[in-house]
Order: sequence, then C-alpha cells, then structure tokens
Amino acid sequence: MKFVILTLFPEMIRQAAAHSVLGRAIEKGIISLEAVDIRDYAHNKHNTVDDYPFGGGAGMVMQAPPVFEAYQDVTSRLVSAQAPVIYMSPAGRPFSQSIAKEMAGYEELILLCGHYEGIDQRVLDEIVTDEISIGDYVLTGGELPALVVMDTVSRLVDGVLGNEASAQEESFSGMWLEYPQYTRPRVFHDQPVPEVLVSGHHARIEAWRLEKSMELTLERRPDLIIPEAMSPAEKKVYEKVLRKKGLQTGEPMV
Ligand code: SAM
Repeated sequence: MKFVILTLFPEMIRQAAAHSVLGRAIEKGIISLEAVDIRDYAHNKHNTVDDYPFGGGAGMVMQAPPVFEAYQDVTSRLVSAQAPVIYMSPAGRPFSQSIAKEMAGYEELILLCGHYEGIDQRVLDEIVTDEISIGDYVLTGGELPALVVMDTVSRLVDGVLGNEASAQEESFSGMWLEYPQYTRPRVFHDQPVPEVLVSGHHARIEAWRLEKSMELTLERRPDLIIPEAMSPAEKKVYEKVLRKKGLQTGEPMV
C-alpha cells in the first residue's frame, strides 16, 4: 500500500515514519511513503504558499494553486485512477478503527495536511474525497493527524505486524477493549501475574481474557457495548460479568 502525504513539512513525516513498525514495513516494501512538499509547487521568488484570508480575520490561508498542482503531479504517477484524497481537518469525520479498516483496503491513499488557518476551500471542493479529524482539538498542522492515520492503517495491512493475530484481538477490533497484558518477571513489586495466565490452560486463558475485556469495557467505555451483537457464548459471559458487578442486562452502566 502506498501513502502519499501532501505537506509543507515533508521531513517531519519522513522522520516519524522511519522508525519501528512503520520503518521496517517501508524497508521491506510492504508499504511505501511519498512525502510531497507543497512548497515545491509555489510560483514565486520566496516560495510562499499562504496569503491573507479574504474578508479579513486572523492568520493565513494556504493557497489553492500549489495544493492543486502538487495533487495533479502525484496523481499522474499513481496506479489507481481514483485514489482517495483525505484532508486532515478538525471539521472532518472522527477517525476510528473502522474507518482505518476501510482505508486499508485501498492500494493508494493521499493524505492532505493543512497549516495556518487551513486551505482555500475551492481546492478542497475540487480534490478532497473525505475529511478526517483525529479528535476534538486543534493542532498546528495536519502532519501529526496524517501520521496517526498512516500508523493506524498500516498496522492493518497484511504483513506489517509480525503477528497478524495481534491486530485482530486488540481494542476496537471488536466490541471490547483489550484485556490487560503481562510479561516477565512473574512477580513485580509483590504482585504476581494472574495465576490463570501461567496455567498453560488455553481455554481458561481465553475465558479469563474475555471476562477482563468485558469488565474493562463496562467500566470505561460502556457506549461500545451492543448486547444484540454478541454471540450466545459472549452473552453468557457478559451476563456473568454483569452479575459480578451487581448489574443486570439492560441496566444503565453509569
Ligand atoms: N482554522 C481551523 C479551524 O478552526 O478548524 C484550524 C486550522 S489548524 C490550525 C491547521 C491544520 O491542522 C488544519 O488545516 C488541519 O489540516 C490540521 N488539524 C488541526 N487539528 C486537527 C484535527 N483535530 N484533526 C485533523 N487535522 C487537524
């Protein structure tokens, strides 16, 4: 899968993507990254790409022509005729694991990073297919959001994670947050790991993990729980967890 990131700070993107899981996936050629400097498409002596907003107001706005030309140039080199163009924006759809799954299905993805007060609306109207927000707060630029999207989507691309199962079991892959994890040493500050995890009994371990996932989700994110979407086996465990907490199915969690 190829990520093309249109930005005023390509080095920020390249550097952040050069490490750990992303770095290795790029090295192995499982994913690729092209960070395109929008400033290369400026047509003036000082390479400026921003200007004052029409109508007045604070800050500067990124101009349409350099963004459009950067887009045209990269798309002329892409394989897919219609690669999605995602504008990172606080006004976009809230990013989630399910949106990441959708995105992982594309061969190529173009992520557009704004800066200053944002980008001239006319070019957004012409080239953007979706807007994504990484949360209800405002960052200085779209680079960190684009990296968040690239990181999340990459983990879902076959071969990027060493152990494929790890992406399937974790938080937000289903209805439940992930169960707590433990590793060596077996005892830390007088706290032993839960006995069941060292029992070697696979079915008991699975049952314990599901129960812990349910307890954690009930406690922290009851909004994620959809009883109608549970399998009969899950429902049985869920009812046990509710009883343990002195709750009954259907009772409000807060
Ligand atoms: N004036 C804009 C507003 O109030 O919505 C904020 C512009 S922000 C300072 C500059 C750029 O950062 C945006 O164009 C966008 O690309 C990016 N950005 C900031 N916060 C973001 C968020 N929560 N999610 C995604 N992108 C964000």
